[in-house]
Amino acid sequence: MVRLSGANALSIGRAVFHSSPPLGDRIRHVEFGRVLSEDGCEIDTGLAWVFKAPRSYTGEDTVEISCHGSQVVLETLVQAAISFGATAAAPGEFTRRAFCNGRLDLLQAEAVVDLIQSGSQEGLSSAYGHASGRLSGLVRDLKSIIIKALSLVEIGLDFVDEDIDIVERQKLLDPIQQAHDLVQSLLDTFEGSRRRQNGFLIALVGRPNVGKSTLFNALLGEERAIVTPIPGTTRDLVEGSTVWEGATVRLVDTAGIRRADGPVESEGIQRAQKAGRSADLVFAVFDASTEWRGEDCEILELFGNTPCIAVFNKSDLSHKSKLPEVAGFPHILSQVSVSALTGEGLVPLRQKAMGVMPKPSLVEGVSITRQRHQDCLVRVRNHTDAALELFLAGQLDECLVVELREALLALGEMLGEDISEEVLDRIFSDFCIGK
Ligand code: GDP
Repeated sequence: MVRLSGANALSIGRAVFHSSPPLGDRIRHVEFGRVLSEDGCEIDTGLAWVFKAPRSYTGEDTVEISCHGSQVVLETLVQAAISFGATAAAPGEFTRRAFCNGRLDLLQAEAVVDLIQSGSQEGLSSAYGHASGRLSGLVRDLKSIIIKALSLVEIGLDFVDEDIDIVERQKLLDPIQQAHDLVQSLLDTFEGSRRRQNGFLIALVGRPNVGKSTLFNALLGEERAIVTPIPGTTRDLVEGSTVWEGATVRLVDTAGIRRADGPVESEGIQRAQKAGRSADLVFAVFDASTEWRGEDCEILELFGNTPCIAVFNKSDLSHKSKLPEVAGFPHILSQVSVSALTGEGLVPLRQKAMGVMPKPSLVEGVSITRQRHQDCLVRVRNHTDAALELFLAGQLDECLVVELREALLALGEMLGEDISEEVLDRIFSDFCIGK
């Protein structure tokens, strides 16, 4: 699809797309017609939608031409439009125009890119919630609460000479406290949502040859890591990502942990230990067909601070129970018997893993995922904190006004009010062309 937006969209649209009747001035309509090249040759047939300002995505006159999708047709059509006076859109230009024309606030504009880039069901529904204005609604609620507090203080200041307590001072506490609590609960959603958005990290660790790489491949459903019966094949970290229960999960296969045979393996083992310690969850993989050994305990001790599921692999072979051996480790959340070779037990393993991952914390169905939003909300929290302290200390109302105004400014910035071109450039550079 080729999209034209701006004051000349219709005239350029008519030059590159011939229909009967021609594209007209009705608010919204669609015509079937022929797509033309720069020199007027017919190159394709298609449909053109006309959206008159301000009832279009960008708020400007817009023509969207859909044709058969060949790259050559699209490029020829774009070239033809440029020859009639259009300029090529920059990344995110349509959404930026929508923002500048007041069709979207900045939170919604940012959510468009999150929606396009979302890699999981959860990411998609969070982005959709933001794009449809749920986060913006909460931020506006916060603004109204602070404006209410501010107006109460300002009324008090206007009547200060008359020595009457126009505003019951206590009435001020409610909105300041309410704003402070709401902003804090929004901030509390950040860490969990960010982690979920980036994907939960699960590290597969264990001694060589227990079947880590086979399990890694089986869980991803693809042959990513090399599997051999020779111990010590995996030397570096191998990462793959998948979606479980709507959430993105990043799996890392690591080098088998044993006394290293040379510097490369030694480095691989160190990386394995680091990956295990920084993961959200460790799958400590054991070979269920062999006896429990002292080294198995060492594996569990190495990752004592990371939540862990003990995975007894090779359940298709004769089974030597190891359950009692791992029972004494408090970070072992559960044990699962699997066969990476036959696939037995993989579904319960995935379910157990997702069961121990932190659930998203939401405020009215919304969480914050962007650093920019967190930065703005931290400022709001700090200013409402300061306002609360001033209030409780019975300080001058002029100081309260300053804090509340600063909090309002930070909220305005979050919505994109009075935001600099530089910040906009940074935000819209994440977009792709045509959005
Ligand atoms: P890693 O060194 O821990 O990554 O182990 P690999 O995934 O390379 O597997 C070592 C050997 O064990 C290979 O020969 C695999 O085919 C075999 N293996 C892995 N998982 C299973 C399993 O569930 N059952 C059986 N019977 N063999 C397995």
